[in-house]
Amino acid sequence: MLRDAYNRTIRDLRISVTDRCNFRCFYCLPNGEPPMARKDTILTFEETAYVADIFVSLGIEKIRLTGGEPLLRKDIATLAAEIAVLKPRLKDLALTTNGFIFPGLADELHSAGVDRVTISLDSLDRDKFIKMTGVDGLEKVFAAIESAKRAGFDPVKVNAAVIRGHNDDEFVEFARFAREFGVSMRFIEFMPLDSGHEWNRDLVVPGREIFETINAVYPLKLRNPDRGSETAWKYVFADGSPGEIGIIAPVTEMFCGACSRIRLTADGQIRTCLFSTTEHDLRGVLRSGVPRAEIARFIESVVLNKEPRHRINDADFVQPSRTMSFIGG
Ligand code: SAM
Ligand code: SF4
Repeated sequence: MLRDAYNRTIRDLRISVTDRCNFRCFYCLPNGEPPMARKDTILTFEETAYVADIFVSLGIEKIRLTGGEPLLRKDIATLAAEIAVLKPRLKDLALTTNGFIFPGLADELHSAGVDRVTISLDSLDRDKFIKMTGVDGLEKVFAAIESAKRAGFDPVKVNAAVIRGHNDDEFVEFARFAREFGVSMRFIEFMPLDSGHEWNRDLVVPGREIFETINAVYPLKLRNPDRGSETAWKYVFADGSPGEIGIIAPVTEMFCGACSRIRLTADGQIRTCLFSTTEHDLRGVLRSGVPRAEIARFIESVVLNKEPRHRINDADFVQPSRTMSFIGG
């Protein structure tokens, strides 16, 4: 079992399969892709599946494939299938996508063994969507949500990164959308992980405000009062309507004390926190040809150094040099 120095058990691994993206979300990757990492630095499918197996043997139960935009990685369903063979030791295989090219891949990913998908949708208004993501893709994302449901993903989660002055007037519309389409609508506070370094506290909309705005129109009932290591407070609609609301408030309501997550970047670096300022070179260890047991020991020693908490609210906070698109959200 992977346990850190603060007695937190690590069960959740997020794997960024590429740092490339076809969107230009201003809160993530506004200036486009960074210069392409050398291809030979990116883990191959074989390497990723091998280390995933080691992680699972150490107690990882959930793997999420993310990025960048994970669907830009050619034959991503093949990788998903190679990881899905780790079930039932692996309990949950999920994927986060901006949805743009998802409709053509929904069935293939479902058949490959992906259990759950999260699709990002930052605005229900076409012009605002373009302003936030840099792409005229709203209809494509609606189609992605529909195709996810049709392919049998359940629940379908929808993520909105919330930014003051951009989409903070849409909470009730989003809640209506969740009710109408029976999806889990999740709101994420803006975190200082954007490559444009535009983040500032005035752009953060507190999770509490999101809750109160929706609750005033559609009363909500908390579903997970003891949320354990989950990032979201989850609410159902008190009137029994389908759909769910999730609120993820890492900035105003830090949840580091129960964190169960670590991350693997596309170029094979372990990050023990979104806000880590150091990385651990798993790729180097893997490619040095050492036996499997030694790779496992390396992972265990890295986990022992997991940070106790993020420092966003400390006066001396330093934004990590790698951004969300590298780290994997
Ligand atoms: N490209 C895929 C997507 O957009 O769904 C997967 C990767 S993206 C980094 C994963 C999630 O991180 C998205 O839902 C996005 O909204 C969120 N995200 C990115 N930058 C963020 C930031 N600075 N603060 C909060 N959430 C952010
Ligand atoms: Fe791309 Fe996702 Fe970042 Fe948007 S949030 S730029 S879609 S990686």
